[in-house]
Amino acid sequence: MDINALPDNPYLLLTPGPLSTTKTVKAAMLRDWCTWDDDYKSIVRDLREKVLQLATTRTQDYTSVLMQGSGTFAVESVIGSMLPENGKLLVLSNGSYGQRIARTAKYYKIETLILDSGEQDPPDLGLLEKTLQEDPDISHVSLVHCETTTGMLNPIQDVGRIVKRYHKTYFVDTMSSLGGVPLDLAEYQIDFAVTSSNKCIQGVPGFGIIFARLDELEKCKGRGRSLSLDLFEQWKAMAIDDPGKWRFTSPTHTVRAFYQALKELEAEGGIARRFERYATNQKTLVKGMRELGFQTLLPDAYQSPIITSFLNPTAPEFEFMDFYNRIKAKGFVIYPGKVTNVDSFRIGNIGDVYPEDIERLLAAVKGSMYWK
Ligand SMILES: *Cc1c(COP(=O)(O)O)cnc(C)c1O
Repeated sequence: MDINALPDNPYLLLTPGPLSTTKTVKAAMLRDWCTWDDDYKSIVRDLREKVLQLATTRTQDYTSVLMQGSGTFAVESVIGSMLPENGKLLVLSNGSYGQRIARTAKYYKIETLILDSGEQDPPDLGLLEKTLQEDPDISHVSLVHCETTTGMLNPIQDVGRIVKRYHKTYFVDTMSSLGGVPLDLAEYQIDFAVTSSNKCIQGVPGFGIIFARLDELEKCKGRGRSLSLDLFEQWKAMAIDDPGKWRFTSPTHTVRAFYQALKELEAEGGIARRFERYATNQKTLVKGMRELGFQTLLPDAYQSPIITSFLNPTAPEFEFMDFYNRIKAKGFVIYPGKVTNVDSFRIGNIGDVYPEDIERLLAAVKGSMYWK
C-alpha cells in the first residue's frame, strides 16, 4: 500500500480524542479479519501484553482487558464490576469526568460519596484522610488523572498513599494520560485504571483498555451488574478460556489500527519520548498564546501536557464559534470549554502533532483575532 496515496485530513485535530492519527495507523485498517482465527487472536494476545507494559513494570501482578465501546464504557465496566453489593465508593472530583464516575455509580445504585474540590483546585488530601478515617463503609476510592475538563493533572500518587493507608481499593481514570504521561500502576498503588484506543496511544476510537491488579480482578467474579460490561467475564473469555478471542464481536479494524499505534509509540521511543513531545507542544502553545494576550485557566503548576484551557477574550465581539470557524478554515480544529462558571475554550496537544504544528496554529490564531 502506498501510504502517500491516502488523502490528507482536511484539518489537524487539536482535541483530546479522537485525535489526529498517522496514515500508517489508518492504513492498518484496510483489511478484514476472522475473529476466531489465530491470525487475529495472536494480535490480540500480543496487544494485551504490549499495552500492559505501558502501564506498569510489575506486569506479573496486573492484566489488561479490552472492552468494546468508548472510554466511558470501560469506566462503567470497572465501576459496575469492582464494587460488592454493600460497597461504597468515594469519588474525588474536580471536573465533569469525575462527576461522570459518580453518575455511573448512581445508575447502578452504588452508594457514593463525592468530595468535589471545584474545577480549578486539586483534591483536598486532608479532607480525603479525614473522610476515610470517619467513614469505614467506604470500600473504594476513584480519581481522574488528567481531568480533561480543564487539563488539570491530579496527584494520583499522593492520593494512592492515603487510600492504601486505609486499605481501600483504588481506581484511577487514566483515560487521557496513559501513553502520554509516565506512570506505574504498581508503584502508585492503583488497582484499576482505564484508557481508550483513541487517546495518547494514538489509535482510532472503538474500544477501551482496563488494567486490573489480578488479585482485585478475582474479587470481581459474580459482581458484574451488566452482561456486556462484566469485567471479570470479559477477562476470563479473552485471557483464559480462548486467549485472544473476545466474548462478543470485537472491533477488528480498530484493534489492528491500535496494534500499529503501539508499534509507533515504541518506535518514537516509548512514553518518555512521547511525554516530551506533548510537553513541548504544550509549552510552545502556552508561550505563544500568552504572547497573543490569552490567559490560561489553570496555574502552570496544575497543568497537564495533554490539553490546555484558555479564558475567552473579554472583547464583546468575541464569539467562540466565529473564532473556531476561522481557525478551522486555516486547517485546525480546537475544542469548546467545559468549565461551568468560566467562559473558556481548550486546545489539545496530543495525537500526531508536533511543535511545528503548534507554531502554525499560533499563526492561524493570530490571523483569526478579528476582535483586535
Ligand atoms: C475521553 C475521556 C473519557 C471517556 O470519554 P468517551 O467519550 O467515552 O471516550 C473518560 N475520562 C476522561 C478523563 C477522558 O478524557
